[in-house]
Amino acid sequence: MQTIVIVGGGAGGLELATRLGDSAGKAGRARVLLVDRWPAHFWKPLLHTVASGKRDPHVTQVDYAAQACEHGFEFVRGEVTGVDRSARCITLAPLLADDGAELVPARSLAYDKLVLALGSVTNFFGVPGASEHVLTLDDVPQAEAFRQRFMDGCLQASSRNAASGGAEQTVDIVIVGGGATGVELAAELSHSARTLARYKVHALDPQRDVRIRILERGSLLLPHLHPRLSKRAARHLRSLGIKVFTDTAVASVSAHEVRDTEGSCYPSTITLWAAGVEAPAICASFGLQVNRLRQIVVEPSLKALGDAHIYAIGDCASFVCPIRGTVPPRAQAAHQQAMFLAEVLACDGQTKAPVFAYRDYGSLVSLGPLAAVGMLRGAVGERKMQVGGALARVLYALMYRKHLMALHGFVRMAAQTVVDWIQDKLSPSVKLH
Ligand SMILES: Cc1cc2nc3c(=O)[nH]c(=O)nc-3n(C[C@H](O)[C@H](O)[C@H](O)COP(=O)(O)OP(=O)(O)OC[C@H]3O[C@@H](n4cnc5c(N)ncnc54)[C@H](O)[C@@H]3O)c2cc1C
Repeated sequence: MQTIVIVGGGAGGLELATRLGDSAGKAGRARVLLVDRWPAHFWKPLLHTVASGKRDPHVTQVDYAAQACEHGFEFVRGEVTGVDRSARCITLAPLLADDGAELVPARSLAYDKLVLALGSVTNFFGVPGASEHVLTLDDVPQAEAFRQRFMDGCLQASSRNAASGGAEQTVDIVIVGGGATGVELAAELSHSARTLARYKVHALDPQRDVRIRILERGSLLLPHLHPRLSKRAARHLRSLGIKVFTDTAVASVSAHEVRDTEGSCYPSTITLWAAGVEAPAICASFGLQVNRLRQIVVEPSLKALGDAHIYAIGDCASFVCPIRGTVPPRAQAAHQQAMFLAEVLACDGQTKAPVFAYRDYGSLVSLGPLAAVGMLRGAVGERKMQVGGALARVLYALMYRKHLMALHGFVRMAAQTVVDWIQDKLSPSVKLH
């Protein structure tokens, strides 16, 4: 029986482990192991809702051990620190307790097939001060750190206002990058600031005192969408009081301000960097071919170039489809690659020359709880359809439901949807502590 080790339980890796466990794992045809540094999975496209306080990640996450038990695979918790390709094993760092005590020593795990699904990290493009002074939305702890800083900032400004008899104190949020992550976060934050004021958590005027700015290097927000949708999104953000600065390239970041290449300064209580991603540094240490973003270059079968035992999927993989071009680092690409590889690996290589073909179904960007914009492709042939407003928001919400369905099946996804709806009605609309 061959051992298939999947490293990274994100959008691609967890779905692959679930499918492969259900097919080859339960039938005893393969031992499937999933390795991740965290004990639970949180779907990355929802991280901005954790940062804004709208979502409690501990309620939404999927526990790897429970998922493994139900779906015929094994879960190993640990951070992968290296791959020994000649011995065909991976090494895991020791598992430490919060106080630094060693719980589990460093280990190694042997594989017959290894799937790297390590995701991506923020790309700071070498901008001075960025890596030291900004927050990112790379994982749940970062998103929670942002939420805490946002709440603290509001409380501090509010109490200073009270102490100084109403002198204007502001919370300045600078978001670098006007792509989907920056736009979605800005819209959610604006709603959270209003909700916190309604709950009287702070006594700020959310429109005047919580100043949200987006700095975008290009001439339009959401450059991957049609310019009409970009302009619509910008109008919506401005109506929420968010300031959008396009054609603004960041030159440096310090603790309390962001400076652009023209010399303008933007005061900042919190700076969030959402200007692009690259593969984690470890991807360049395996001796495999990588591109300039450190993504592992893969063949059409998703095998890493030059190693028949290693595959890569999702954000950490670079695949240029001969017909449709470069596969973007998106959840839908990770999902499609997981489905493809689950079939290939379940057949144990008996499929003749499998070729992955990416299909772009479009893109939806949330503009807060009630609106979204986006472009759908493939509903009628290859035609593109622009969508906006409440309908787009409903379609956007369905993306996460689709992910849940891939992990749990229709019945459990439907039950979870009802539970989430009730939970939404019963709890405050922003996490308060
Ligand atoms: C705020 C935000 C909004 C987004 N919105 C959208 C959207 O609307 N639509 C869309 O298609 N995409 C969206 N994306 C992109 C999408 O989230 C990613 O493309 C997708 O999650 C990639 O899946 P993945 O499996 O490659 O990696 P991930 O989902 O990032 O998973 C990687 C996993 O690897 C684990 N890992 C990493 N390194 C190690 C290590 N050394 N050892 C052990 N485990 C490790 C991590 O813990 C993680 O669980 C968004 C991203 C963000 C941040």
